[in-house]
Amino acid sequence: MANIKSIDEANVKGKKVLVRVDFNTPVKDGVVSDDTRIRAALPTIEKLIGDGGRLILVSHRGRPAGEGFEEEFSLGPVARRLQELLGKDIVLCRELIGPIAKETVDAMEDGDIVLLENIRFDKREKKNDPEFASELAELADIYVNDAFGTAHRAHASTAGVAEHLPSYAGYLMNKEVETLTSMLDDPKRPFVAILGGSKVSDKIKVIDALLDKADTLIIGGAMCFTFLLAKGKGVGASLKEDDWVKEAQRMLDKARANGVDLLLPVDVVVADAIDENASVEIVSIDDIPTNMMGLDIGPKTVALYSDAIAGAASIFWNGPMGVFEMKPFETGTLGVAEAVAQNEAADTIIGGGDSVAAVNKFDLADKMTFISTGGGASMELVEGKELPGVKALS
Ligand code: ADP
Ligand code: MG
Repeated sequence: MANIKSIDEANVKGKKVLVRVDFNTPVKDGVVSDDTRIRAALPTIEKLIGDGGRLILVSHRGRPAGEGFEEEFSLGPVARRLQELLGKDIVLCRELIGPIAKETVDAMEDGDIVLLENIRFDKREKKNDPEFASELAELADIYVNDAFGTAHRAHASTAGVAEHLPSYAGYLMNKEVETLTSMLDDPKRPFVAILGGSKVSDKIKVIDALLDKADTLIIGGAMCFTFLLAKGKGVGASLKEDDWVKEAQRMLDKARANGVDLLLPVDVVVADAIDENASVEIVSIDDIPTNMMGLDIGPKTVALYSDAIAGAASIFWNGPMGVFEMKPFETGTLGVAEAVAQNEAADTIIGGGDSVAAVNKFDLADKMTFISTGGGASMELVEGKELPGVKALS
């Protein structure tokens, strides 16, 4: 973030500040059911209103068609939750750009907040349409991007708008980028990376990048079966990607060449269906029955992985070890989460997505050094890509 200005350097008093936040939160029955992302934006919002800024908050939520207002994707529930958290009135503006939006923001006083409706109600947002970006910029004097979760997308409100206004990174954006890049650039060693989740194909670039940085790479989740295939093992009916066995083989070779200790399961929990009530069995990795699927790592594997985790000075974890959403297959993910939590001396980063959901489910979030709010964005950072939303601020 070397050449990117922080909001600490901005003079916002009396200014209209367009703040891109990531309020892409789940809503159930008209109520925000997980407000993590809203709370993550509060330090920036509170700082800017405390300094007398007039805030225009901008976010997307879900995937509307881009043809105008849709109740299902409205930011109404978000406005209500934000109002509760701040103890302050929030004006929700139905119009994104144009005369009513202008009037609404011009009527603000210092410290007021207007939340524009879901910015993806206009399809020009995702196209990073220059005219749309310029009209959005006309509402404000200053631009702040605090939406790390959307920083891997070049959209009008995350990239285009920055061309027109003095631009700054919010606290969350700063913290996310700095925490992740400092672990990747100069990790305390041993650096243990843990990867799981469903597909090798989703994470291949992350695996590739981490093999240049980590001392140990632990693999769990469904993706381990593609690696096990590459090692000539039978994986029964487990989820696997036949087209990716060659790439998995290349990763095994790269690990050997780089001296990275790549750990794969030695035992697995198998069942004949992904079902809460399935009857499960623990088998050695050499004995997966042909009609059964591996749905979690087994106890010997948890012990092996926990040992490696206990010896780490820094840990990056993305992707659950099994189908943690269901009780019979949660033990491996829980075991790894506990091992990471118990290593209090290490820097521990949970890299977004379902791994964060798992850590929250097991109530271990406060034992981690840092939990990323961005799944895709944190993965792209690990891959070594430049994030368009970050680049636009420089
Ligand atoms: P993240 O969001 O943390 O990056 P992914 O989206 O890649 O993780 O994968 C998470 C999903 O992978 C979970 O829904 C989980 O149920 C599934 N999963 C993990 N292990 C297995 C397995 N052995 N078989 C089938 N699905 C699995
Ligand atoms: Mg996921």
